[in-house]
Amino acid sequence: MIDLRSDTVTKPSDEMRRVMASAVVDDDVLGHDPTVEELEHRTAELLGKDGALFVPSGTMANQIAIKTHTVPGDEIVMEADCHIKRYEVGAPAAISGVMCQLIAGERGLFTGDDLRAAVRGGDVHFPRTSLVCIENTHNCGGGTVWPVEQLAEVASVAREAGLKLHLDGARLWNASAASGVSEAEYAKYFDSVAVCFSKGLGAPVGSVIAGGAAFIAAAKRFRKMFGGGMRQAGIIAAGAIYALDNNRARLAEDHANAKALAEGLAGIDGVEIDPATVETNLVYFKLTSFPADELLAGLTAAGVSLMGSGSSLRAVTNLMVTRADIDKTLAATAKIMAG
Ligand SMILES: *Cc1c(COP(=O)(O)O)cnc(C)c1O
Repeated sequence: MIDLRSDTVTKPSDEMRRVMASAVVDDDVLGHDPTVEELEHRTAELLGKDGALFVPSGTMANQIAIKTHTVPGDEIVMEADCHIKRYEVGAPAAISGVMCQLIAGERGLFTGDDLRAAVRGGDVHFPRTSLVCIENTHNCGGGTVWPVEQLAEVASVAREAGLKLHLDGARLWNASAASGVSEAEYAKYFDSVAVCFSKGLGAPVGSVIAGGAAFIAAAKRFRKMFGGGMRQAGIIAAGAIYALDNNRARLAEDHANAKALAEGLAGIDGVEIDPATVETNLVYFKLTSFPADELLAGLTAAGVSLMGSGSSLRAVTNLMVTRADIDKTLAATAKIMAG
């Protein structure tokens, strides 16, 4: 099976499993697990932050950050199609009691002016705007990379307004691989940064949130409150360390494969896609006349799995997908759509 459903579908390699099985562990909740500490230390360093916390998922990383930065009744600002708004089960309302002010972005990105217009003034009727969340790369925007100048401009408006900044960097590794801007350079604009090891990097489990010392101390209490304190978590942290060491440099390959897929799809009659918008590993496309569910079924029969919602389809390259797989996917797509 050629699995293009997501970059979360990767399975740990034999070598990664060996490293995990032999990880040195202790009890991280009682105070310390050496392998978890190594991962936290290395990630904090990579992101240029004081400290970091290992958590089970990207969703928990984002929600701990929101809880730490806000009080109930606050309003937080984010792009309308971001993961926190679309795919985190209403958690900002349920867990932190905050309202979400949404900015309709351009492929997931917005400007300093957009943010300025979204921030509430000090009138007694208004909620207090306290936090802005940014997603880089932006999943539903198409794996979009934030230009660092635009990020700097949004951050400067946020600072003027006294807001905190959180980066949902589940795919920050992809942003850096595509732009050559280091993770630390992106991270320096933010009070907290969430990164994920179980997407492009191919570890089975885990995310990290990084930030300043006071943020991390407060976040650690919420991690425990949310049920995210894990005991011999070094077993899974070892997979994340292995992923950092071995799978980060190869992300460019996923991007090249995504580009090849996009360019190939653009040449198939009835497929709507602009390959120029494919900056990283996510390939979104539409069918102009052929039914999407028919293409999905045909591809499944041909051994290719991808995801669709409505007329919009998504293919995600990842470390288990080769260039030959891309060629097979394109050939199968062309054949099915030619009827
Ligand atoms: C996947 C994802 C998350 C959440 O990660 P989980 O580990 O699935 O909870 C957060 N933000 C973005 C942008 C993501 O793509």
